[in-house]
Amino acid sequence: MSNLLTATSDLSWVWNQCLAAIETRIQRQSYNTWFRPTQLIHFAPDQAIIQVSSHFFSDWLEEHYLELIKTTLHEQTGHNCEIVFSVSADKPISEPPLFSDTVQEQAKVPSVAVFHLNPRYTFDTFIVGDSNEFTYTAALAVAKSPGKTSFNPLVIHGGVGLGKTHLLQAIGHYCVQHTSAKNVVYVSSEKFVSDFIQSIKNKDTTEFVRIYRTADVLLVDDIQFFPQSESTQKEFFHTFNTLHQNGKQIVLSSDCPPNRLKGLEERLISRFQWGLVTGIEKPDLETRMAILKKKAENEGIYIEDGIARLIAMQVDTNIRELEGILTHLLAQASLKNTPITQELVLNLLDNTFKPSKNQPTIDNIQRIAAKHFCISEDLLISKTRKQEVAMARQVAMYLCRKMTSSSLETIGLHFGGRDHSTVIHACQSVESKLLTEPSFASRLHRLTQDVHTSSHS
Ligand code: ADP
Ligand code: MG
Repeated sequence: MSNLLTATSDLSWVWNQCLAAIETRIQRQSYNTWFRPTQLIHFAPDQAIIQVSSHFFSDWLEEHYLELIKTTLHEQTGHNCEIVFSVSADKPISEPPLFSDTVQEQAKVPSVAVFHLNPRYTFDTFIVGDSNEFTYTAALAVAKSPGKTSFNPLVIHGGVGLGKTHLLQAIGHYCVQHTSAKNVVYVSSEKFVSDFIQSIKNKDTTEFVRIYRTADVLLVDDIQFFPQSESTQKEFFHTFNTLHQNGKQIVLSSDCPPNRLKGLEERLISRFQWGLVTGIEKPDLETRMAILKKKAENEGIYIEDGIARLIAMQVDTNIRELEGILTHLLAQASLKNTPITQELVLNLLDNTFKPSKNQPTIDNIQRIAAKHFCISEDLLISKTRKQEVAMARQVAMYLCRKMTSSSLETIGLHFGGRDHSTVIHACQSVESKLLTEPSFASRLHRLTQDVHTSSHS
């Protein structure tokens, strides 16, 4: 065997040998959870780099399986090398690195970009609920007839971890597999920018232009990171126009609707609104439960409704976090070799969301807020819509969200059984008031101090 493995096929051959050996030594569930998603991306006599999907994985592997990995690699290759973990995070292995020899070679093959898409991000693995149904349907329509619907560009916006990247890549997979639009290019806006800058440095933009302006489908992720730079925006403008005029599909994602994007030229923003702009909201409880169950099922594990509900009630922020909790849970279950029980979940949630020592309670915040606004606590959580009371209630909800680790659902329940969307709305109103009314901001600051003081005493 050569000392330095470079070809991907060699690397995966070696790693498959190692994995086969590891599989015989540890429990199946542990193997599936921890090792199946790994990849060997570099191997030299002194160092092996293993790619994993998150820091949680690398920490876990390092803590629990480092020796096993070292020994196995030694057995298989004869080298005692240092093991390094590389986190691919949610930056998909995607993104054609321009101008490197190998990729220039690959780039001549039209469908090359498909190799850069994360294979997990398909329509099949995307769970649909009220929060994302419209966007999902639009994405699927675009994927079925790229460039041929009025949804061009399709702009998907929404908060972090809600599935934008997943949907963009699902479109890419679908086009390659089921349509004649095989030349799919997926990039983050940063990658687009850095490729462009590199091409300027190289004094040759032909390769850049060739890749981006000949795409059948251009998927640009996170356009909120587009820099203010005039030349890059101009380049993007021309890329956009060329593709659009040629009936090619453009799909963009952003953390906010295009008209709220900062630092982008008007002409770009107006083009972004030519097609369809659609948002993804936070998933409701039912959808979160469905996502959990499906993801567990993919790992070969069944989770009861009660347990899914328990987890989904606690984690209402985003789906990435939900996945994180599930991974923890699978890991624990596999380590302890037990099924996923309510006790295991409660234990884990307890450790994850353990209130910091002096974290105020919801009751505490309600008591102090009521006092501050000179109303009774009963009135604070009552149904009355009188303006002063409603305002006090919104402030109290906002503080609960900021100062405790309780979920939106839990907070809503403590405020007379209100819905989580009421809590979101309250937080939004308080935030906008904070921006526009300095006296309100200082009042809120005093109130926050009071809550702090009382929970320390
Ligand atoms: P964003 O790009 O909006 O920050 P991602 O697309 O990276 O979010 O999604 C975060 C994680 O949650 C990914 O692992 C993704 O597969 C998963 N995810 C998001 N939405 C869904 C969904 N509706 N069904 C299943 N998985 C989802
Ligand atoms: Mg993303």
